[in-house]
Amino acid sequence: MEDIAKEIYKLCEELFPINRSITGDGFRQSLSILQRYLPELKKFEVPTGTKCFDWEVPKEWNIKDAYIITPDGKKICDFKKSNLHVVNYSIPINRVVSFEELQKHLYSLPNQPDAIPYITSYYKKNWGFCITQKERDKLKPGNYKVFIDSELKDGSLTYGELIIPGKSKKEIMFSTYLCHPSLANDNLSGPVVTTFLAKWISNIKDRKYTYRIIIIPETIGSIVYLSRNYKTLKENVIAGFNVTCVGDERTFSYLPSRQGDTLSDKVALHVLKHVYPNFKKYSFLDRGSDERQYCSPGIDLPVCSVMRSKYGDYPEYHTSLDDLNFISPKGLFESYEVYKKIVECIEMNDILYPTVLCEPQLGKRGLYPTISTKNSKNIVKDMMNFLAYCDGSLSNLEIAEKINVPLWKLKDIIDKLKKENILKEKKLNKG
Ligand code: ZN
Repeated sequence: MEDIAKEIYKLCEELFPINRSITGDGFRQSLSILQRYLPELKKFEVPTGTKCFDWEVPKEWNIKDAYIITPDGKKICDFKKSNLHVVNYSIPINRVVSFEELQKHLYSLPNQPDAIPYITSYYKKNWGFCITQKERDKLKPGNYKVFIDSELKDGSLTYGELIIPGKSKKEIMFSTYLCHPSLANDNLSGPVVTTFLAKWISNIKDRKYTYRIIIIPETIGSIVYLSRNYKTLKENVIAGFNVTCVGDERTFSYLPSRQGDTLSDKVALHVLKHVYPNFKKYSFLDRGSDERQYCSPGIDLPVCSVMRSKYGDYPEYHTSLDDLNFISPKGLFESYEVYKKIVECIEMNDILYPTVLCEPQLGKRGLYPTISTKNSKNIVKDMMNFLAYCDGSLSNLEIAEKINVPLWKLKDIIDKLKKENILKEKKLNKG
């Protein structure tokens, strides 16, 4: 296994125990850990009550402890054992309640008796506990002490932003959310893979595009971010991706942008077709994450998603079963590699035109391999096919599609042809 695969997984392990929410110290602490990897990542705080389009930044939520004491004195639903035991954004409570009243505040999954569900109540004041069905079935009538040491106060919503400048003002954007407590595929896989991807991007020599990395709480975070930045994004972003659910090994999947045929969509499909031809293709009707905001009418950003097992569509989703065993170094690493290829393809996607009429004489430029092997024959074939379509109207991605070769495999050939001045660049980018 590659070292980087282990490193990516290790970062998931480090972040996993932290209790996160859409606001609060857990989010901040997690972002600080990512800043160790991305020192240029900036932290922003947006005060409670700030208006953002039709929404406003909620009160900040923090929690120290929570549990239930049963009639026979047993501590259950202990927040310190699993932060999923408390409904996220629960108001503070310290009371004795009857068995019947307690039932109204318990959440469990009859069909997954060993799983603790993940439940939130961000915008309605409520309290509650999440419990396995097995444990719930054992509860007897009597008085229960319910204790939640939480705090809702005027504070702020935190998000992270990293701009990695390139030669062009035009941008590629990666957005990911970091607001779930101890959940692995949905959620830690996204920000962790994005962090390693951003690190890799910042080391690309002669980067053509500017890269924007956004680490936010889901939904409210993208709305806050857009309310402050959408004009710049609309002007500059040529491709964008919502990175989530990229940690397991079951499948790859793709969820299109609303327009469906943006550069992001084309590149995502091109890469997946060659890397994992059996990938699962969703429709925009299956959306459920921040692409809802990025692709909304009037915002219209070209944002799609390449995922593994998609949120809402795997049994472990939003339960304690989506843990560090559900994701793997291999699953995370393969997603990282797919997103790297996506970046490579966009960076390579010029429109080139030939400087000579008819076929260039490749032999005198040393572009024909002197030893003929099966592989060298393929290289020549790809090169001739590429040249055959390279007419100053098609983008490199479009040609790669026509000749059915992964664009990244044409990199050496294109670089050589450019170096020999057989091909010249027409303009920066076309979808
Ligand atoms: Zn989720």
